[in-house]
Amino acid sequence: MKYVDEFRDPEKAKALIDAIHAKVSEIERRVLAEGRTFKPLQLMEFCGGHTHTLFKYGIESLLPDGIEMVHGPGCPVCVLPMGRVDDCINIASLPNVILTTFGDAMRVPGSKGSLLDAKTAGYDIRMVYSPLDALALAKQNPTREVVFFALGFETTMPSTALTVKQAQREGITNFSLFCNHITTAPTIEAVLNEPGLHLDGFLAPGHVSMVLGTEPFQFIARDYGKPIVITGFEPLDVLQSLLMTVTQIAEGRCEVENQYSRVVQDAGNYSGLAAMADVYQACNVTELRGLGEIGEAGVRVSDKYAQWDAERKFSLVHKKVMEPEACQCGEVIKGLIKPWQCKLYGKNCTPQHPIGALMVSSEGACAAYFNHGFRVPDDSSAVK
Ligand code: SF4
Repeated sequence: MKYVDEFRDPEKAKALIDAIHAKVSEIERRVLAEGRTFKPLQLMEFCGGHTHTLFKYGIESLLPDGIEMVHGPGCPVCVLPMGRVDDCINIASLPNVILTTFGDAMRVPGSKGSLLDAKTAGYDIRMVYSPLDALALAKQNPTREVVFFALGFETTMPSTALTVKQAQREGITNFSLFCNHITTAPTIEAVLNEPGLHLDGFLAPGHVSMVLGTEPFQFIARDYGKPIVITGFEPLDVLQSLLMTVTQIAEGRCEVENQYSRVVQDAGNYSGLAAMADVYQACNVTELRGLGEIGEAGVRVSDKYAQWDAERKFSLVHKKVMEPEACQCGEVIKGLIKPWQCKLYGKNCTPQHPIGALMVSSEGACAAYFNHGFRVPDDSSAVK
């Protein structure tokens, strides 16, 4: 298939893997020659899409021992705190409301069960493929209130913003947004400031960068001295980006490089950025799974579009909800442990019966490990 097969070419993949091995060996030799101890390079793929690619194509097992992939928090469903799911159920319980959202969000457990459970219990909760579907539902049901539960990073933010603008243009007032979007750069900064987590480089999210461009990632190279490569989602994209990252490390460089230049432009997407600037205003995120409160990482509906803000329309008050005690989603999100090191992995928590959000989404690290056959070995100390 044009534009897919050429990014899955086995010969090219092998050449890239060989080059990565050679580059990491070069780094190791130099470190040892300087009398230092070589520790595996800790490289974080921020985006759950990359985690999925690493496992779907078996890339992680082909990397040298000198690279350890750390799976980051870039999966919108995974960082969603339980309290927001409870908020959705509370909205859906209001008279005359239809609550809509994407399929992944339907299965995330809240303290009273998931949205799917609430739907089974009789609430009018519907899965949609885009916010425009929710707007169409509002037009078809003028006597009801249709709320779209919006979540995700900058990849999905423009489409939500454009939907609100369309609602305003068409004068549709029975549609509103429960806005839970999060912004990428402050989330990465929170990871970089996490005590106990040392990272040597990043693969940056390709889809988010398509909207944002390259500028918002400059602080990672400039202020934190970490190489970062904007990365596409096919196996050769990921391998090429890994090679670019270890090459920066070998050459002592810290730069933002753009591997995904066939999609990502330095300036980003002007229309998407303009819609976001118009419809949203920055706000503190009071609660992000695993990362807690991280300053102005969130957005809310701006005053100009207050009429389409579900939080104002229904006077919502967020409540914090404690995660189940044994759940270690937060530590996995912060890269402090691997999914299989969670006590619940594969036993109490599976994709069929998820306890934590990371086992729900196909982009979640736990689901990626589990769905691609990773089981906890008898001697777990033998696992890379
Ligand atoms: S196995 Fe389940 S509870 Fe444990 S970290 Fe993964 S999703 Fe969370």
